[in-house]
Amino acid sequence: MLILGGTAEARELAARLAVNGAGRVVTSLAGVTRAPADIAGEVRTGRFGGVGGLMQYLEDESIGLVADATHPFAARMSHQAARAAERAGIPYFRLERPQWTPGDGDNWRMVPDMPEAAAAIPAGITVLLTAGRQEVAPFFARGDVRIVARMIEPPDAVPTNVHVVLARPPFTVDEETALFREHGIAMLVTKNSGGETTRAKLDAARALKLPVIMVERPAKPDAPTAADANGLAALIATLP
Ligand code: NAP
Repeated sequence: MLILGGTAEARELAARLAVNGAGRVVTSLAGVTRAPADIAGEVRTGRFGGVGGLMQYLEDESIGLVADATHPFAARMSHQAARAAERAGIPYFRLERPQWTPGDGDNWRMVPDMPEAAAAIPAGITVLLTAGRQEVAPFFARGDVRIVARMIEPPDAVPTNVHVVLARPPFTVDEETALFREHGIAMLVTKNSGGETTRAKLDAARALKLPVIMVERPAKPDAPTAADANGLAALIATLP
C-alpha cells in the first residue's frame, strides 16, 4: 500500500496499519518539510515526476492500493494519484479531514483561491496571514497593507511591509490571541485546512470580533473518502 502523506492524518494511518499488520506500507513525502515527524513503516521522499512517474513507481513497487492522505490543498498530487491508480487498475481512496464551518459570532468571507484572498484585503490594514511559502506571492505583492505572515518554512524573500513569524502548530487560543494583540491585527487571512491543530486562530478571531478571509478548498478527485485514519482503515477492510 502507498500512503500519500505530508499530514498528521497520514502518520496516524501508517501507525494504525502498522498495528494491524496490514502488510507492506510505504508513506510518500514530497520532501518540502525539512524535519518531518517520525512515521511508522517505510518512508520514501521526493516527487514522482507526474502521472507517468507515479505509474512507474506503482509498478516497480507492486503497489496494490493508493491511500491519498495529502493535505486538502495539495490538489495536484491527488488528481495525479487518482489518474495513475485508475490506469494501473488499483483502488484509490482518500483521507480528508472535515473542513471548518463558521458558527455564531464568526465573520468569514469565503474566497476561491489565494489571489482572490489577497485582492480582498482592504488597503491600509494589518492582517495575519497563515499560508505556506509557495502561497504567499500574491499577498507579498500587496505593498499597501501590513502583513504578519505566520509560516512553518521561511519564504524566499520578504518585502519591507511583511513581518514573518516562523512557528510550528499546534497553537492555543491564548497564544493566538496574544499574537493578534501584539501585532494589532485587524483581519485574519487563512485557508480552510480543517483539523484541530490550527483551528485556535479562528476561535481567537471570533473572540476578538475580527473578520476572516477564508480560502476554500480546491476540488479533489471523486473517490471513496474517509474523515480519519480509522475510517480509512475500515474502507480498506471492505476490499476483497
Ligand atoms: P501539490 O501542489 O498537490 O503537489 C505538487 C507536486 O508535489 C506534485 O505534483 C508531486 O510532484 C509532489 N508531491 C505532492 N505530494 C507528494 C507526496 N506525498 N509524495 C511525493 N510527491 C508529492 O502539493 P503541495 O500543496 O505542494 O503539498 C506538498 C506536500 O506537502 C504534500 O505531501 C502535502 O500533503 C503536504 N502539505 C501541503 C500543505 C498545503 O497547504 N498545500 C500543507 C501541509 C502539508 P510530481 O508531480 O513530480 O510527482
